[in-house]
Amino acid sequence: VGVTKHFAVRRRLRDRRRRVVHAVENVDLALYAGQVTAVIGESGSGKSTVARLLAQLYQPTSGEIRLRGKAVRAPGGRRLRAYVGQVQLILQDPFGSFNPVHTIAYHLGRVLRIHRPGQSSAQVEQAMADLLAEVRLTPAAQFTAKYPHELSGGQRQRISIARALAADPAVLLADEPVSMLDVSIRLGVLNLLARLVAERNLALLYITHDIASARYFADTATVMYAGQLVEGGPAETVTQRAAHPYTQLLIASAPDPDRDAAAPRPADKASPPSLIDPPAGCRFHPRCPFAMPKCSAEAPPRFDLGDGHWARCWLHEQAQPQQAQPQQAHP
Ligand code: SF4
Ligand code: MG
Repeated sequence: VGVTKHFAVRRRLRDRRRRVVHAVENVDLALYAGQVTAVIGESGSGKSTVARLLAQLYQPTSGEIRLRGKAVRAPGGRRLRAYVGQVQLILQDPFGSFNPVHTIAYHLGRVLRIHRPGQSSAQVEQAMADLLAEVRLTPAAQFTAKYPHELSGGQRQRISIARALAADPAVLLADEPVSMLDVSIRLGVLNLLARLVAERNLALLYITHDIASARYFADTATVMYAGQLVEGGPAETVTQRAAHPYTQLLIASAPDPDRDAAAPRPADKASPPSLIDPPAGCRFHPRCPFAMPKCSAEAPPRFDLGDGHWARCWLHEQAQPQQAQPQQAHP
């Protein structure tokens, strides 16, 4: 419906080193203009794969990715090229995404010239200054002549945001955008992203392992475990009234400044299961304190908990299973 971007990535089996890695399976995720959607998960949960699928760096094995309701077909083709401009990826490590031998002006100018062909140098320079002002790096002249290593981590991440904006995207995919930054400057970068979402009506996918930042920053939150989405809904609901035992575990093990540092934390040193041979039934059952016999036998569907909140867990069996996806009903 015009401003709505809907992505559905389904069943992806990836062959890596000749083993099939179930990196992401049957992931349905929708992003909306003017909204922040968080995907929360541990490392190895497949959350970065979701971002890379959406950025068309990987192709889904099956299923499709749609932009404004239209399937994006790859490889090649005009539709794909248009898509790549509209969907921009921001990575965790801004340093790794810049060529150290080139200045900031080079990096920004390159993208501006690709996406706005036929502009004069003066126009490109002006666009560059506008972008830097938008990410609050002023005066522009103080930054354009610099090399990536001459900037702080926070400044570099602001530059990589400016570079993403240079393509005038509709969608930003931010994979752990602040996790490598000093704690003291993380909030500033998140607030910048929040402001851009509002001002540019962007759809933002915020990938994080930090559930507290998702509560603060996202409109919608989705929790990922072992390549599957296990809970989702309004960020407030998911982070305050978590329905899935895994989400509850993430909340309980997150550092909480309000809690006594000496208070015991739930001991859970187990790591997510291998994605080569994921556990049968509910993938969380080997770690779940509530596991029942059924859990290892049968994979739970999504149960609808009302107001957009859902969980993939048998504890909510009395709730309504979510409507079968229309794509599954009509293959
Ligand atoms: Fe735990 Fe069973 Fe729910 Fe999985 S389905 S999270 S094992 S209670
Ligand atoms: Mg990652």
